[in-house]
Amino acid sequence: MDLDAIRYNVDQLTRLAARTGAQTMAVIKADAYGHGALAVGNAALAAGASWLGVASVDEALALRGAGIQSRVFCWLHTVDDNFGPAVAAGIHLSVASLRQLWAVNSAARAVGVEAKVHLKIDTGLTRSGCQPAEWSALVEAAATAQAEGSLEVAGVWSHLACADEPGHPSVDRQAARLDDAYKVAANAGLNPIRHIANSAATLTRPDLHFDLVRPGIAVYGLNPVPGSATLRPAMSFRSTVSLARRVPAGEAVSYGHTWTTESETTLALVPVGYADGIPRTLSGRMEVWLGGRRRPVVGRVCMDQIVVDCGDDPITDGDEVLLFGPGDRGEPTAREWADTIGTIDYEIVTGMYRPRVSRSYV
Ligand code: PLP
Repeated sequence: MDLDAIRYNVDQLTRLAARTGAQTMAVIKADAYGHGALAVGNAALAAGASWLGVASVDEALALRGAGIQSRVFCWLHTVDDNFGPAVAAGIHLSVASLRQLWAVNSAARAVGVEAKVHLKIDTGLTRSGCQPAEWSALVEAAATAQAEGSLEVAGVWSHLACADEPGHPSVDRQAARLDDAYKVAANAGLNPIRHIANSAATLTRPDLHFDLVRPGIAVYGLNPVPGSATLRPAMSFRSTVSLARRVPAGEAVSYGHTWTTESETTLALVPVGYADGIPRTLSGRMEVWLGGRRRPVVGRVCMDQIVVDCGDDPITDGDEVLLFGPGDRGEPTAREWADTIGTIDYEIVTGMYRPRVSRSYV
């Protein structure tokens, strides 16, 4: 994991946000999209981010437990979540319904600390958030609780559905609905910050930065709107050859015998497989960087191993294998894997979030 790349990307993003007067929240949920929440969180804060964003209360509390003191926002709750410790730890909590408001408010009263809440309006992602028809009631109740001193409405926010498709009409529609919701809050005497921009909107829609941007994938150097900025992918996936062997022509390789050697060749066994985050659907469709060039992975991706065809080149046990990286040497990238199997690079890197894969940071 290249923390220099994380710092570079966050620096780019915070400069972009600062041009419109916005602060930057680095989104580090799901163990920083597979990159390691603590290492990335600290690197992002050092590079200019002033907030960290995670999905769950548990993720937020883990950051506090590890000594991170910055502002932390989390947004995915059930009403019976354990809000008390989060409120006591000064975590900013999203509130998307009256029931969530009551739950957070009573937790705040119980621990005797003012809760910081960000009211979430569903502007059109239709996944979570308060429906526009119920917004006034939520704002009124929150304003009352604020007047009573048990909570502060620190933010009004939403999340975009199609910001990675520049020009998609839903983006402006969502922004207009956020504006309407914000006016209701302001008319109720509240003075919250406003935020809606993910990476794509941070990079392409400065008019939607408002007070705070919430980039995730761009922090890791993966660009949801290719060409909109130069970012540096932070994750490389490496292994080593565990066994290189000469194999004669006509030998069928690995489960199902889906590939057969055409001539005598060197086959290199690499001890990583779908248990380590390589999608099995890449079988027969992936290459690795080994011995200074790309080489095909032959046969099926197994649970713990893959086989690489090295021809007559002098590949030996212990040689380094780069499964994906930034792409600057010509090696495969996470984006290439994603494109090959019809998914997004978010899923590839987040899929590396597993105990068996050890991480190292440079
Ligand atoms: N904000 C919220 C609420 C999110 O759930 C996410 C990620 O899905 C982000 C921001 C960051 O999105 P992206 O990784 O596309 O920048």
